Amino acid sequence: MFDHSRICPKCNSTELGEGVFSGHATLMPKGKIFSMGSSVIATVCTRCGYIVELKAKDPAKFIPQKKNRL
Ligand SMILES: [Zn+2]
Repeated sequence: MFDHSRICPKCNSTELGEGVFSGHATLMPKGKIFSMGSSVIATVCTRCGYIVELKAKDPAKFIPQKKNRL
């Protein structure tokens, strides 16, 4: 299986590594002040440093809260 997301679009290197934004760089859901937020996983080209992909580790935390509270 050939995964196009595993190739750097800048230098065509397939030597990609993964890093995690953590600590103060956690991505917080907008408007959810008391939630914990999610770490952000970055896929980085180890040759040229280009960040190929950014994704939240816990995407479910960004589901908008329903506003019909009783
Ligand atoms: Zn690259």
